[in-house]
Amino acid sequence: MTAYSRRLGDPTHKPNPNLAPLLKPHFYAVRIHAGLACTSLGLEADADGRVLDVSGMLIPVLYTAGIDMNSPFKGAYLGADANLGPSITFGYRAA
Ligand SMILES: Cc1cc2nc3c(=O)[nH]c(=O)nc-3n(C[C@H](O)[C@H](O)[C@H](O)COP(=O)(O)OP(=O)(O)OC[C@H]3O[C@@H](n4cnc5c(N)ncnc54)[C@H](O)[C@@H]3O)c2cc1C
Repeated sequence: MTAYSRRLGDPTHKPNPNLAPLLKPHFYAVRIHAGLACTSLGLEADADGRVLDVSGMLIPVLYTAGIDMNSPFKGAYLGADANLGPSITFGYRAA
């Protein structure tokens, strides 16, 4: 569990701030399906959104931004707008 997910729980509840027994009814159930809201690993690029090949060389006239681009956070979702912030920033720089 990351520090970020611990912060979303109840810090007074030990040992896990996000897990507790369900003791008091009413109980409800929902069917949950896994979905993809975003990715945070993608094409490696420089600060202007120019795509780099596996050896770190620029691929001419190939740009990336948004979820196609490798996140500056390298695979971690650190918190709100970890996707939209870099998407807007690097989209602007690439344009
Ligand atoms: C429910 C939800 C909540 C989210 N909340 C947050 C949040 O709070 N903060 C945050 O940072 N991120 C959040 N995200 C993630 C964020 O929205 C995405 O990371 C971001 O929108 C990705 O932008 P993008 O431009 O890369 O891709 P997209 O926004 O998916 O844009 C891709 C575009 O390409 C178009 N397209 C696809 N195929 C074709 C084609 N063949 N020809 C032409 N057009 C095509 C699509 O229609 C779409 O408009 C959330 C995502 C979801 C689903």
